[in-house]
Amino acid sequence: MRPEELLRPTPQGLCCPPGDFHIDPVRPVARALITHGHADHARAGHGHVLATQETLDIMRLRYGEDFAGSTQAIRFGETVAINGVKVGFHPAGHVLGSAQIAVEQNGMRIVASGDYKRQADPTCAGFEPVACDVFITEATFALPIFRHPDATHEIALLLKSVAQFPERCHLVGAYALGKAQRVISLIRQAGYDRPIYIHGALQKLCGYYQSQGIDLGELQPATLEEGDARDFSGAIVIGPPSAFVDRWARRFPDPLACFASGWMRIRQRAKQRGVELPLIISDHCDWDELTDTISEIAPGEVWVTHGREEALVRWCTLAGIPARPLHLVGYEDEGD
Ligand SMILES: [Zn+2]
Repeated sequence: MRPEELLRPTPQGLCCPPGDFHIDPVRPVARALITHGHADHARAGHGHVLATQETLDIMRLRYGEDFAGSTQAIRFGETVAINGVKVGFHPAGHVLGSAQIAVEQNGMRIVASGDYKRQADPTCAGFEPVACDVFITEATFALPIFRHPDATHEIALLLKSVAQFPERCHLVGAYALGKAQRVISLIRQAGYDRPIYIHGALQKLCGYYQSQGIDLGELQPATLEEGDARDFSGAIVIGPPSAFVDRWARRFPDPLACFASGWMRIRQRAKQRGVELPLIISDHCDWDELTDTISEIAPGEVWVTHGREEALVRWCTLAGIPARPLHLVGYEDEGD
């Protein structure tokens, strides 16, 4: 059996013809397997969805009760058979509930890793390497210039700035699913125990993370009504990046704009966005994490999805591992 007979790229996304299912389809399909809850991977409107319970819960929170015709939850390490194809979910370390999906038939195993990272994250289960014939990897930060420092180091920079400028309000941009909760959790781990203020767009997901036993400490709404006399001087306020161009952001006293993203490694990007304190915190692998993971798994072949495919394909080829880009479209990652 050739790997392309088991899994192949189509305009709908990765398709498994013998199993008659798609992985993270970008268009509505009859049967979808979903790696994680980010909007570009988890879309509403599929007939049947198989995912971890957390991913199903997150989709329900974002799209409403009727986001799919029917759903089935699968636990990490559990295996189910779909039309004779064995399917297993394994932790990807990206956001709460995120999974790699292993697809297996006739002794051929392909692992579609979805989005993943290797850095420690207190808000989700850590990535588990799975031996396979073909490893499908993302390539969001697949250039040697992308090296993410330890996230705890970046949080220390934030807290140092809070101590240094006690009259200013630190506005931290962080994606609503995963990044925001990871940033809050890391701030707590660093010993900061004052209330943290969150934008309304983060409330449901932060509440869900807390219901799953993830300690985010005391969170208060950062909604300022007309005439609200609360003083946000010295406070930490977390909001989705999109909120920072709103009037919402301009109501805070002497705001100091921070942004938690892997893209903050590029000074020019930080400058363009008006970010005063860039925090290089990513839920994706940097270059070393990608190449170390491929070396560790030592797959027979590597397929590279969305991102900077060329550099990673070339690295694999030089390392003696056959590799090719998949050119999947429709993935503009939400949570970088
Ligand atoms: Zn993602």
